[in-house]
Amino acid sequence: MKYYSTNKQAPLASLQEAVLRGLAPDKGLYMPEHIKHLTKDYFEGIKQYTMPRLSYIVSHCFFGEDIETESLKKIVYDTLSFPIPVVKVEDNIYCLELFHGPTLAFKDVGARFMARLLEYFVRKNNMGKINVLVATSGDTGSAVANGFLGVDGIHVYVLYPKGKVSKIQESQFTTLGKNITALEVDGCFDDCQALVKQAFIDEDLNKHMRMTSANSINVARFLPQSFYYYNAYAEMKKLGKEKDLVVCVPSGNFGNLCAGLFAWKTGLPVKRFIAANNANDVFFQYLKTGEYNPQPSKQTLANAMDVGAPSNFARIYDLFGGSHEAITSLISGATYNDEQIKKAIKDCYEKNGYVLDPHGACGYLALKEGLKKGETGIFLETAHPAKFKEKVDAILGTDIEIPDRLQKFMKGKKVSVPMTKDFKDFKAFLMKQ
Ligand SMILES: *Cc1c(COP(=O)(O)O)cnc(C)c1O
Repeated sequence: MKYYSTNKQAPLASLQEAVLRGLAPDKGLYMPEHIKHLTKDYFEGIKQYTMPRLSYIVSHCFFGEDIETESLKKIVYDTLSFPIPVVKVEDNIYCLELFHGPTLAFKDVGARFMARLLEYFVRKNNMGKINVLVATSGDTGSAVANGFLGVDGIHVYVLYPKGKVSKIQESQFTTLGKNITALEVDGCFDDCQALVKQAFIDEDLNKHMRMTSANSINVARFLPQSFYYYNAYAEMKKLGKEKDLVVCVPSGNFGNLCAGLFAWKTGLPVKRFIAANNANDVFFQYLKTGEYNPQPSKQTLANAMDVGAPSNFARIYDLFGGSHEAITSLISGATYNDEQIKKAIKDCYEKNGYVLDPHGACGYLALKEGLKKGETGIFLETAHPAKFKEKVDAILGTDIEIPDRLQKFMKGKKVSVPMTKDFKDFKAFLMKQ
């Protein structure tokens, strides 16, 4: 399969090139040239498959031409070594719990897949060292660092905004050592993202080291996230609740929603999607007006969604041929401020005994407000509430338990490199590596 750039000014790339580059040379995002359609039989029979099995079948649509069957199977099965259950929260509202992986957020899926795929390419082609640069607003860094920890031939640089990620999040990428280096940037998430993007197009750096990105701009990160949308459908089918299914996705950089849209393009019978935003409402405004106006990001309770210039907007736009009408006929939006998020966490706990994290809370609320008669909704719970323990406990007056796999990180010693948001400094640092 070839991959083209959303900016249409770069040559077509192979999967390996697209994964190694991250961003296309024209600064566009790579898109698979063809999207295969799964058969009706697949969706009819989907509930008899385990999640890894149904994902493995799907993975052929995207990766089957480029990775040998046995290797692809191993990559998919290794990636999905934890459950992604559907849980009923209240009548007609279900939750896809994406937090059962090693770092308790959905990004484990894409990060684990990408680490294994890169390792496969490095081995197969005897490549030298590969450097993975990743900007994080919290959860990407931990998922990527843990996904790649100890993988031979790969070094990971995590850039995160100083003072803007929770202590627990920070501990998940600053305490690992080995092939993981954390950079504490004096700026916001968008500054971190800008540094990474600039590094990729810098000639000197490209001569000095081989770099790639593990942000959701990378096709190996976001495409595998489509797997759990099929799993959600399979689980809903088991419950006899798959008709008129509405999927609601708490969104920041829109990689997750984009994966759902790709699943839909292969034929996944989802009726419509809702993109739930916090106060960073650039996409919501686009849906309303047809104008896409990136903004500086605003800090909110749902900090992993504090994105003012969502990278994957370009992919969504391209996927629908730039048609505002096509996009709005499938996707609606919602935007919530911190007060509304707090109230949703409280209401859901009081009504259902279910503890939401601030990101999932946006999804829950958007479904509650947006679901029409006869529809069944499922929202993606993108992280475990314990990742945001201080905030959630303060809202609910609880003392929620921290899972063991999370506690383990908090005992480690923080090591990070202070960095300014000036590209000159970042470049100088990398040139010394
Ligand atoms: C990254 C993240 C999001 C946003 O996902 P995108 O793919 O960037 O839209 C939402 N919730 C949590 C908990 C996250 O870590």
